[in-house]
Amino acid sequence: MCGPEGSSQRVRLSIVAPRLVIAIDGPAGSGKSSVSRAVATRMGLNYLDTGAMYRALTWAVLQAGVDPDDALAVTAFIEGERSPWITSGTDPSRPTIEVDGVDVAEPIRSSDVTSAVSAVSAVPEVRAHLVGRQREYVRDSGVGIVVEGRDIGSVVLPNSDIKIFLTADSQVRAQRRAAEKLDGHDASLEATQSALLTRDAKDSTRAVSPLARADGAIELDTTHLTFDEVVDHIVDLARQVLKT
Ligand code: C5P
Repeated sequence: MCGPEGSSQRVRLSIVAPRLVIAIDGPAGSGKSSVSRAVATRMGLNYLDTGAMYRALTWAVLQAGVDPDDALAVTAFIEGERSPWITSGTDPSRPTIEVDGVDVAEPIRSSDVTSAVSAVSAVPEVRAHLVGRQREYVRDSGVGIVVEGRDIGSVVLPNSDIKIFLTADSQVRAQRRAAEKLDGHDASLEATQSALLTRDAKDSTRAVSPLARADGAIELDTTHLTFDEVVDHIVDLARQVLKT
């Protein structure tokens, strides 16, 4: 039976929007960043570029004069007093990346950082440090998030609602990189392709969290697909998941 105010009392229902976590992995130049940002924008989700976090840490290593190929020195640096603090802005229309409050969006795309990032990313302590930060961003993302990288579906977020593995022919990937003017502004197509393949080989053969298609990931070969076709496909998958 209702109390005196029972009949007039309104039941407050809070409508909680379903939270979607989408993991997009793949080799360098497969289109992860632009596709992930577009999917996040279309679905109203946050966006996290984990490659930018590894690049930012690598930039800090180089700035500190630490040898990126010396795993012990890199570990001592990130665990020491000068440990860099990486901050990512997760708005897909304006992603940001900072090291200790300094905007490093531009220098992390330099050829020096690109050449050193795979060695730094292979250091287990680096991965442990950044994976913890990445999971915090996901936990704090109320609306849900698209996270792109190499080990998101396999290691960082194995319970993601959708896992995508984006691939493309290496020549096409090099052409896209050259068109974006990433990985060195004046590199030839051949040099860009060779640098991509070297980086893929290092990322795929490292002992910890190598680049690999995660269990349950949907592989999308984008070689012959347009950008819009790739984005539409992932958005369709996301809408299907939301309906279930
Ligand atoms: O995505 P992007 O090409 O900017 O990534 C730069 C590098 O960061 C990769 O080549 C890889 O060495 C590292 N990385 C990683 N794990 C991730 C994302 C990037 O090891 N989740």
